[in-house]
Amino acid sequence: MDWPSITFGAFLATAAIFVLITLALFPVVRRPFLLWLSARTAMIGLMAVMFMAPSAPIGLSEADAKLIGGVANTLSIAVAGPFLASYVERKYLLEGTRRLLRSVFPIGLVLAGIIPLVPHVPILTNVPETGLLALIAIIVFGLGKAIALGSRAATFQAVAWSGGVIVGLYLLVHELVTGVELNFWTSAVLAALVLEFIVTSMGVVDGFMDFRRQRDAALAEVEAATLAIATDPLTGLANRRGLLRHYEEGECGRPHGLALIDCDNFKRINDRYGHDVGDEVLVAIGKGLKGENVFAARLGGEEFVVLLYGADWQSLAEKARRRVTTAVIEHVSHLATTVTASAGIAQLRDGETLASALKRADRALYAAKDAGRDRSLAMTPFDAAPSGAGGPPHLRAVG
Ligand code: GH3
Ligand code: MG
Ligand code: MG
Repeated sequence: MDWPSITFGAFLATAAIFVLITLALFPVVRRPFLLWLSARTAMIGLMAVMFMAPSAPIGLSEADAKLIGGVANTLSIAVAGPFLASYVERKYLLEGTRRLLRSVFPIGLVLAGIIPLVPHVPILTNVPETGLLALIAIIVFGLGKAIALGSRAATFQAVAWSGGVIVGLYLLVHELVTGVELNFWTSAVLAALVLEFIVTSMGVVDGFMDFRRQRDAALAEVEAATLAIATDPLTGLANRRGLLRHYEEGECGRPHGLALIDCDNFKRINDRYGHDVGDEVLVAIGKGLKGENVFAARLGGEEFVVLLYGADWQSLAEKARRRVTTAVIEHVSHLATTVTASAGIAQLRDGETLASALKRADRALYAAKDAGRDRSLAMTPFDAAPSGAGGPPHLRAVG
């Protein structure tokens, strides 16, 4: 086999692989520009076979090959418009420019349809070439506008097409000046087209990587926002929303019980030391309530909920309540007052909602406050259904 056949074969193989890769990517990423791109590459391949093959296509007259090549060339430019319209990042292509680029396709189809008529209708002689120049002007205009707005995709594509433009202009000027065709024009055009395939693929990969970076950043933002709306900004504990989410998602399984813990006489701390110190105390309580086999949340104000995991849930509740005092001593050392808390404890019955268990814990807490504060009271009997309507709550001291 001779050298031109080998290089031409390699070119066609590159084009075919490019068509296959872009087509295979389409079902994965569903971006229409991939279809336009594969159509363009296929048309370029067809044009190359008709115009540049080392031996003329079998079974075709020279005139037929020229006609089919001309149609393929027109179509390859016609699809470049919608390719750019869907390829360039949305924010870098104004809607008017996008529409103009899309219009390149129907106009190109009409021009391609005119080409076979030219030999029979002399008045149409210059229409395909003139029309093609107009389409190229639209594409260059759209590309330029997108680049001016900062599009990376358009910049890649401009580099990809630059080889073809330079070679095309050089050949044109050379032919106009000397009146003869350059003998190496085929190799120059093929090289320019291979450059287009390579740089276009680089641009597509760059676009996907950029898209992934943006998607990851957006996901991270959503994750941070999701966490923020479920978190109490002062203590960093879960808020009511976070508590419910934790309970419903059941990450740690189902809690055995819960404690509603409320700081005693907190208003006095605010009154005596100021709101800022009150906040410091709340932060300290938040730190103190965290522990093994518990999940702490701040319901609001100086009221906290601790979900209790394990058979020893009652003692876990009492330990958490006591840690309110020790944590404030540890973290707010300048406070001359001992801070205590009261807790209402409730067992979680099978299938019981969090709200229902909280309601029972609240009754126990109320009773703990009534009984003099600084203590835990639990609703009993734990396993029984709620006592009859209006019946007195059964309470038991814990700890
Ligand atoms: P009790 O023992 O009956 O619970 O008395 P208490 O004073 O703790 O309860 P009360 O409900 O009367 O007062 C709670 C106070 O908590 C009133 C409110 O100003 C204060 N508070 C609520 N949220 C915050 C906060 O975010 N920071 C500070 N510093 N104070 C808060
Ligand atoms: Mg209180
Ligand atoms: Mg309260």
